[in-house]
Amino acid sequence: GSTIGIIGAGQLGRMLGVAAAQLGYRIHVLAPASGPACDVNNAFTAAAYDDEAALAEFGEQCDVVTYEFENIEAAPIATLAESVPVRPSAAALAIAQNRVEEKRFVEKLGGRAAPWRDVATRGDLDTAIAEIGCPAILKTIRFGYDGKGQARLASADDADAAWDAIGGNPAILEGFVEFDHEFSIVLARGEDGGHASYPPPLNGHEDGILARSTVPAPPQVASQWTEAAALAGRVADALDYVGVLTLEFFAGRDGPIFNEMAPRVHNSGHWTIEGAVTSQFENHIRAICGLPLGATTVTGTRVEMENLIGDQAKRWREIVAEPEAHLHLYGKTEIRPGRKMGHVTRIWR
Ligand code: ATP
Ligand code: MG
Ligand code: MG
Repeated sequence: GSTIGIIGAGQLGRMLGVAAAQLGYRIHVLAPASGPACDVNNAFTAAAYDDEAALAEFGEQCDVVTYEFENIEAAPIATLAESVPVRPSAAALAIAQNRVEEKRFVEKLGGRAAPWRDVATRGDLDTAIAEIGCPAILKTIRFGYDGKGQARLASADDADAAWDAIGGNPAILEGFVEFDHEFSIVLARGEDGGHASYPPPLNGHEDGILARSTVPAPPQVASQWTEAAALAGRVADALDYVGVLTLEFFAGRDGPIFNEMAPRVHNSGHWTIEGAVTSQFENHIRAICGLPLGATTVTGTRVEMENLIGDQAKRWREIVAEPEAHLHLYGKTEIRPGRKMGHVTRIWR
C-alpha cells in the first residue's frame, strides 16, 4: 500500500486519516510543533508549515500529500510538489486561501458574489463604505475562519471600530446579503476530471460558526442547487482540481450568491460520513489516490449534523446513549468557547 501525507492534525485531517486507513493506506501526519489540535500519535512535527526542510523530509516519506486547511503558505507547497504529488495543487490553494483571489476567480466563471471592495488602508475603508453602503462586513483577506477576522458595520460610524477589530490587516468590505438560507456545494473531482457532488445541506450558523447542516435543504435552496453545483464544477475544472472542493452560498432572492470556497473537505459535509453512500473524506482520498469516486447518494430521508461546540461537548454521554446517534469526538483535550469539539449525525430512514 502507499502512504498518504496529511498536512495538519485537526479534526479534518483526523477524519481523512480514518477514511484512508479504511481503504488500506498508511497515513503520515504533519503536525505543528506547538501541538496538534487533536490527540495524534506518532505525528511528524514541523516548527512551521512553511519550513521547507521539514516539508521536504515529510514529503520523502509519502507517495501523495494533501492538506486539511488552507492557512498554509502556497510557495513551500509548490516547492514540495516538485518532489511528490500534492493534491489539491498549490495553485488551487493560493486562490482558495485568499478572499480577493477567490472572488475574482469565481466571478470570472460567471458566479455572483456580494458587492465587495479591496481595503488595504483605513482610507480605502471610507471609500468602500461610500461605494457599497452599510450594513456591510469587513473581512481579512486571509486566515479567517469561524467568523474570526471579521467585523460588521451597521453604519459608517462603525468604521473605526471595525478597522481596529481586524487589526488593520489587508481586508475586503462586503455588502451585507439579505438571505433566508445558507448552503454549500461539496464536490469531489477525480484524477480523470470526473465529478461527484453531494446534495446541498442547509447550513445554520450561530455567532458566525456552523451550528448544523441538514439534508435535504428547503425548496428555496433545492431550486438553486443546479446553478450552484454547475458553478462549483466550473471552478474545479478551471483549477484542474483533484480532491474535494467546497463552495459556500447564500440563497438570495435571485439565485445563489457565492460567499467563499475551501480547498478541502468541509464541516458542512460531515453528515456524509453516515448520511451518504461515500463520505466526503473517502471521496477526497479516492480522488487524490486516482481511484474512481464513490456514490454521493443520501442514505436516509433526512440527515442532520449538529456541531458540538465548546461546552456542548459535555453532552456526549447523553448523545452516545441515543441508539441511533452517530457521535464523533475529535480528541481535543481542552474545551474552549467556540472550539469545535465534535459532532453528532442523526438519520431518519
Ligand atoms: P468559515 O468557518 O466558514 O470559513 P469564515 O470565518 O471564513 O467562516 P464567512 O463564511 O465569510 O467566514 O462568514 C461567516 C458567516 O457570516 C457566514 O456563514 C454568514 O452567516 C455570515 N456572513 C458572511 N458574509 C456575509 C455577507 N456578506 N452577508 C450576510 N452574512 C454574511
Ligand atoms: Mg472561511
Ligand atoms: Mg464560511
